[in-house]
Amino acid sequence: MNWIDTHSHLTYPDYNDPIEDILDRSRAAGVTRWITVGTDIEHNRKAIDLAAGVEGMFAIVGIHPHHASEASNDDLALLAEQARKNKVVALGETGLDYHYTFSTKDRQLEVFRAQLTLAAERNLPVVIHSRDAFADTLAVLDEFAARLPRVVFHCHGGPVDQTQAILDRGWFASFTGIVTFKNGETARQAASIVPLDRMLLETDCPFISPEPVRHIRPCEPAMLVHTARKLAELKGLDPAAFADAVNHTSQSFFVLTI
Ligand SMILES: [Zn+2]
Repeated sequence: MNWIDTHSHLTYPDYNDPIEDILDRSRAAGVTRWITVGTDIEHNRKAIDLAAGVEGMFAIVGIHPHHASEASNDDLALLAEQARKNKVVALGETGLDYHYTFSTKDRQLEVFRAQLTLAAERNLPVVIHSRDAFADTLAVLDEFAARLPRVVFHCHGGPVDQTQAILDRGWFASFTGIVTFKNGETARQAASIVPLDRMLLETDCPFISPEPVRHIRPCEPAMLVHTARKLAELKGLDPAAFADAVNHTSQSFFVLTI
């Protein structure tokens, strides 16, 4: 049984161990393919390089809403170049974060729209980060919806009405270790209404170590199995059948070539 970690940040400085060791532990746990997500120009470059050198590794490039203010219009032009590179499978993570508001709302909206324009032009799927900004995220996405091939809300935590709004539009939801948390009931309720052909799995590592390894930091792809088992249980499926279904969804969402 193999799993795909569809959203990790393996280029982040949180990791002291060599990447080979992290990936060996991941393979040993059955997590054999990964997508590493860049959040600014520098990490996009590192993500592209990592994907180039590792079989089963893919990259997503984008400018995270936290970095929207520091991103210049030249950076957006660079992003357009990065999005053409080999093994880049989506644009993101992009969206709106009104929880921290590290970047002004106006700039977040501009940078979000610029990335959706690029995704539409290139027919690339988009990976959405939305925190305390669901209404605005939805409104902006609705402007582009007809031109975007596929949309996933990453690290989705519910609630059910927002989840339903995502599903109604034909979009996808991606779940992290939050579904394993004692206080993760809202995320579990969301997962319970998302069909397997709209569901993706991710660690979002180095963040969000799942139970029962929540105390171990940084989170790494090997830990995806805990989240996967919890979701399989929620869906009342044995892990192998669940893995088959969600792997198929991930593979077709991102058009993974291996
Ligand atoms: Zn992320």
